[in-house]
Amino acid sequence: MRIDIITVLPEIFAGSLDQSIMKRAQQKGIVDIHLHQLRDYTANKHRQVDDYAFGGGAGMVLQIEPIWNIIEKLKTERLYDEIIYMSPDGELLNQKIANNLSLLNNIILLCGHYKGVDERVRQYLITKEISIGNYVLSGGELAAAVLSDAVIRLLPGVLNDETSALSDSFQDDLIAPPVYTRPVDFKNMKVPEILLSGHQKNINEWRHNQSIERTLQRRPELIKKNDN
Ligand code: SAH
Repeated sequence: MRIDIITVLPEIFAGSLDQSIMKRAQQKGIVDIHLHQLRDYTANKHRQVDDYAFGGGAGMVLQIEPIWNIIEKLKTERLYDEIIYMSPDGELLNQKIANNLSLLNNIILLCGHYKGVDERVRQYLITKEISIGNYVLSGGELAAAVLSDAVIRLLPGVLNDETSALSDSFQDDLIAPPVYTRPVDFKNMKVPEILLSGHQKNINEWRHNQSIERTLQRRPELIKKNDN
């Protein structure tokens, strides 16, 4: 999979996508992440890519021209499955969206800044808009990093244990069961006996019941959704 990220702050991604699982995915060649500095695509001699909003009001708006330039250039190089704008009013990110995106070959993520991007970018260049939650960030970079992480860890070969992404929360509309590791007894706080029993069938059953219980407590809407 290839992910092209358009941003005025490429530095933000160094910490999040160059460590641990994300780093390994890139080293193994499973994902190719390309960061594009939007300022490289403007004719403005001060490399300015934003301007005041027509009609007045506080806050700058990212201009269409440099965004158009970089997206059109990328489109001549390969076919993109989706061109995604990270936006607080986009479709709310969930596991299903991450699963679907993980099946694609090439995607572009556009990070907004300030007041956002000129509306014509959204109308004419963007094929999908995704939000990571009902709150406002100062830029799309952290949202794009969150989306990339959620998608990349699903790509075959990224996680060592192939089944491990499948047993995560939300994959089957259930919350993951609690997990424990050594020591068995820490200051009299104990690991549930069943997990030490060695009876895999009983353990699986216990885990499944815990998942259902947790989902009912914490995310009842996931179970209700399946009743329809
Ligand atoms: N004025 C806009 C907010 C702009 S925030 C509005 O009220 O909708 C600046 C940029 O941060 C946006 O262009 C977007 O790319 C990014 N952003 C902010 N919150 C986000 C969220 N919850 N999910 C995804 N991107 C977000």
